[in-house]
Amino acid sequence: MPFSHDMVYSLATAVDLVNTPPADMEELAAFVLRRKVSGVEFLNPGDLAEVRALASAFHDVFTAPDDPVAIDRLNTLLGRTRITPRLTQHDGFPLHVHYFAPGASLAEHLAADCGVALAHVLVEGERDRLRTCSAPDCSHVFVDESRNRSRVYCDSRTCGNRMHVAAYRARRRA
Ligand SMILES: [Zn+2]
Ligand SMILES: [Zn+2]
Repeated sequence: MPFSHDMVYSLATAVDLVNTPPADMEELAAFVLRRKVSGVEFLNPGDLAEVRALASAFHDVFTAPDDPVAIDRLNTLLGRTRITPRLTQHDGFPLHVHYFAPGASLAEHLAADCGVALAHVLVEGERDRLRTCSAPDCSHVFVDESRNRSRVYCDSRTCGNRMHVAAYRARRRA
């Protein structure tokens, strides 16, 4: 993928958020830790509601039917987000750019950093890499980073494996 490591990281954070939107404060705190979201000191119930709304907004970008709709949805999201680019180095990550404004809430932080990463995907004409899992009982989104854009399952170890086993059984029955 033509994206820098921090873009890839931010995209993975957006995917995590869409697929497992935090249901309560405990899950929200776990998400912040898991994705190493920097500079978060306090979390309150307002954060939970905002982050859940953001998860839904990101989902709508991933599942947009075409480029214009994806662009429109992402512009709406970015339009209500304060963005202040700043070079930084922390927690063992190499030099990268933070986009969230000073004093940003958790949702604003994620909207800025993940939103800019998604913007780059669209700018590079790579929207077809924003996918939904092909397993019939799975609605997880993912970013296809494969060279030949061939990935169809959210996770090759779970959905991919499950579907291969199902296909094998179907062939044996046939
Ligand atoms: Zn950072
Ligand atoms: Zn899946």
